[in-house]
Amino acid sequence: MNNDLQDCYAILDLKPGVPLEKVKDAYRELVRVWHPDRFAHDPALQQKAQEKLKLINLAYEKICQVNVEEYDNVASGKAVSFSSNKSIQPCESTAPQPSQGNPPSYLLVLFAGLATTALTLFGVHWINVNYPDITVMGYYVEFIIPVGAIGVGIVAALGYGIVSWASGIKIVRGVCWAVIFFQVCAYCGAQYLEYKHAMTQYPQLHWSFFEYFDRVTRLFVWKSTDSTGEGTHLGVWGYGCRALELIGFTLGGLIVPAVLMKKPYCDKCRRYMKYRSLGLVPGSAPEKKVKKADTAGQAAAKAEQEAALASAQGLLGMLRQMAAEGRADDFQNAVKPLKIGNKASLKLPVRYRLGMSSCGKCAAGSLRIWEVTGRGKQIKQTELPRTDASPEFVTGISAKK
Ligand SMILES: [Zn+2]
Repeated sequence: MNNDLQDCYAILDLKPGVPLEKVKDAYRELVRVWHPDRFAHDPALQQKAQEKLKLINLAYEKICQVNVEEYDNVASGKAVSFSSNKSIQPCESTAPQPSQGNPPSYLLVLFAGLATTALTLFGVHWINVNYPDITVMGYYVEFIIPVGAIGVGIVAALGYGIVSWASGIKIVRGVCWAVIFFQVCAYCGAQYLEYKHAMTQYPQLHWSFFEYFDRVTRLFVWKSTDSTGEGTHLGVWGYGCRALELIGFTLGGLIVPAVLMKKPYCDKCRRYMKYRSLGLVPGSAPEKKVKKADTAGQAAAKAEQEAALASAQGLLGMLRQMAAEGRADDFQNAVKPLKIGNKASLKLPVRYRLGMSSCGKCAAGSLRIWEVTGRGKQIKQTELPRTDASPEFVTGISAKK
């Protein structure tokens, strides 16, 4: 166990390696002890409590993360170095445990993905043969982003995502590696198909596949949509295009599986969780234009922002507690005045987006919070640690319109 992790246990006043249930209890207790609302009378103390709480959250997050990884390793039969912990369980251990049955069949997911890949590549080939002017894979934006290849990659890999979603067979890291491998194979296979086709068109040419590939690659030409002139051949730079195409096609195919892999999942029911938006919490005061020379005004604005942030964090802490304790009504009442899409909140420099991921079958779920900053194209969202919601909370919130 590394020192980092030991520190995390120390922050929670725990001996390293205690069962996760204990970690959870200790965490809940510490959150109650250090809740910023308890120090509302003393801003300095409140500040300290917030910092402490941040540390506690980070430590808890880290321990959970390591435990989930250990759990994954145990589940996949890999050697585990951190074996002093005998009750290794994922953090959602209050949620029902994985059901005992046949292991999910990833073959079904892989087979579906390969089927859509084959269909897509035959489609692209058909377009190439029948409409030689259209090079589906060859569309680039800003000369470097192979949108054509990415798009084809996404469509080709749709089968993995669709079947995983519909059947509830979770995408795991191994599936993602398989997707990468098959996408690369499919790209190469498509090139070979094109070679075979070209050779039937020009039987007088006795080129090997590599000869053909090399010549075609060097003959790549930039065609601009706004100029009518023929471009020059790229020569050896054509290989750069090939590389971009291959990367675009492969990573494009990985987009949907990667999103699914990150999606909250109910281990017991073997299905992806549904997401429900719960509101927007202001995280700062409205921006004010204060002249740089106006030091008093600057200080006042800064103090106002700090106070707003402190109250937002206090509110978030309270909401987390309500979710963990199953107080759905209290939660609803607290977020009711903070309607989603509230224009004033959307304009704030910092706001928090709230949502709940929950299983559609059982009452497992978690409260999710994103810190949102910036506007328009500069919008940035960072997810904060998730809070396991109690079953009463999940059913209470789900019952409401
Ligand atoms: Zn479930």
